[in-house]
Amino acid sequence: MNDLAYALALIISAMVCLGVARMAWVRRGYRGSRALAVLMLGLTWWSFSYGLYWLPIPPDGYFWLDMTYFGVGVVPTALFYFTLYFTGRASEISPRLRWLLLIQPISMVLMLWTDPWHGLFFGERQPGLGAILTGGILFYGHVAYNYALILFCCVLFVHAYARAKGIYKQQIAAILLGVSIPFASNAASLAGYLPFPNLDTTPLAFAATGLVIAFALFELGLLDILPVARDAVVEQMADGVLVFDMRNRLVDVNPIGQRMLGLRGKKLIGREAEQLLKNWPQIVEHLGPALTSEVQLRLDGSQKRTFDVSLLPLRNQVTELSGRLVVVRDISQVVQAEQAVHRANRGLKKKITEIEKLQIQLREQAIRDALTGLFNRRYLEESLPREIAKMRRSQEPLSVAMLDIDHFKDFNDRYGHALGDSMLRHLATTLQEHVRLGDIVCRYGGEEFVVVLPGASQEVALLRIDYCRDIFKNHVLAHEDLELYSTFSAGIATFPDDGEETTELLRLADKALYRAKQNGRDQVTVVDVFEG
Ligand code: GH3
Ligand code: MG
Ligand code: MG
Repeated sequence: MNDLAYALALIISAMVCLGVARMAWVRRGYRGSRALAVLMLGLTWWSFSYGLYWLPIPPDGYFWLDMTYFGVGVVPTALFYFTLYFTGRASEISPRLRWLLLIQPISMVLMLWTDPWHGLFFGERQPGLGAILTGGILFYGHVAYNYALILFCCVLFVHAYARAKGIYKQQIAAILLGVSIPFASNAASLAGYLPFPNLDTTPLAFAATGLVIAFALFELGLLDILPVARDAVVEQMADGVLVFDMRNRLVDVNPIGQRMLGLRGKKLIGREAEQLLKNWPQIVEHLGPALTSEVQLRLDGSQKRTFDVSLLPLRNQVTELSGRLVVVRDISQVVQAEQAVHRANRGLKKKITEIEKLQIQLREQAIRDALTGLFNRRYLEESLPREIAKMRRSQEPLSVAMLDIDHFKDFNDRYGHALGDSMLRHLATTLQEHVRLGDIVCRYGGEEFVVVLPGASQEVALLRIDYCRDIFKNHVLAHEDLELYSTFSAGIATFPDDGEETTELLRLADKALYRAKQNGRDQVTVVDVFEG
């Protein structure tokens, strides 16, 4: 009866182990998953063949018991591999040593099957006893090795636990619990606490270990989506991705990353960054152990390509720094668009300056007289009220002088219109040269000019305009062999004494000018207070 129950329990355990093995294989990209899958397959075989042993299935005797050892051999070694990968220590063990680890399980199976010849593995075998209670020297040697290996796994996990954080701490604690089950079960069995006569409970204990590890890995693990994501995302993404380990050897690279950095050759993985990225010294420079936080570089590639390169330190869930990630983004289009915008901006700025220049020109043209370059009448009418307002505020006088060339009709008649124009320009220059900064000289129309003298009282204005008259009169306009002279008459009106408004001042100045003409020309007259 016991036999059947044992067989049933072991075969169910084998089925569960097979299920977990499949689960681990599906998630084989996750660290340690492949080793876990092998571990679970070993356990499947161990439980299954041990289950068959308890059934009346031929061949009889020790055949099925001996078959279990194919599984027994796998379990501790696979567990050790799992521990190495999970704690991120796999790279610390050389590939050759990893292969050497296989010697023990293989030799164990060999020694077992050759026992009939040397008798060193099984001490004495008791028929009907499912567990070896008294083994030979080689048997105990292997048992000791296996438990030492598992104990070493525990040490590595304790070490990892001490350094892990958050959810990872729970995960490692669960794994530690799982790994300690076989010890507990064996201890209980040796102490006679287990009510299963003859049954070696070790495969069941290990099955529990496997289940706990799978739970810790796939339920508590945060990153079990990552391996799937890696294939789906990294291979397809538009950014180049390169992963380097702590010794700056390339661990992973996606096709676009190879293309962007121009990495050719079949054996890229495992090559050193210095050698692999010869054309990218800036990247190599930053990849060293000093890289503890993100570094951004903008690098020029071939064929006018521009790359945005991010270098990031990778942190393991257990150990601190575990490698470096290099992400390369092609930003050529962005850069080209930026350059196009810059060019367009420069063009626009040039246009705006041209427009501004034209506007200034236009405004100048609107307020200037084309013949003399002086301000025109429009400007006078616009600026005189402003000047008067200013003087009103500062309580200063302002004088307006109106000038008219004497007998200019005759001049034109005698010398022609062209020379008449020259004479107009000559007067304009004379006036401009001899008024003060801030005075406004305008061509009022024809051969009439107006000079606005802000701050000048009647007396001052009279002196200054008369001085101009004198200069102009004595200043020869030389033309070919001709020496041309002319004179002007002027009338002055002053703010605020004579008038307060633009039109009034202009009218009074004109009136004074009329009197100057009447009095014989070539003179400057002020407003006659009696005349008004
Ligand atoms: P007065 O002022 O001394 O009384 O005598 P006038 O001969 O100067 O008389 P008036 O002021 O009436 O004559 C204006 C003349 O100025 C008429 C016109 O031939 C001349 N004139 C007006 N505008 C221009 C101009 O743009 N160019 C030239 N060359 N002559 C002009
Ligand atoms: Mg006139
Ligand atoms: Mg005149």
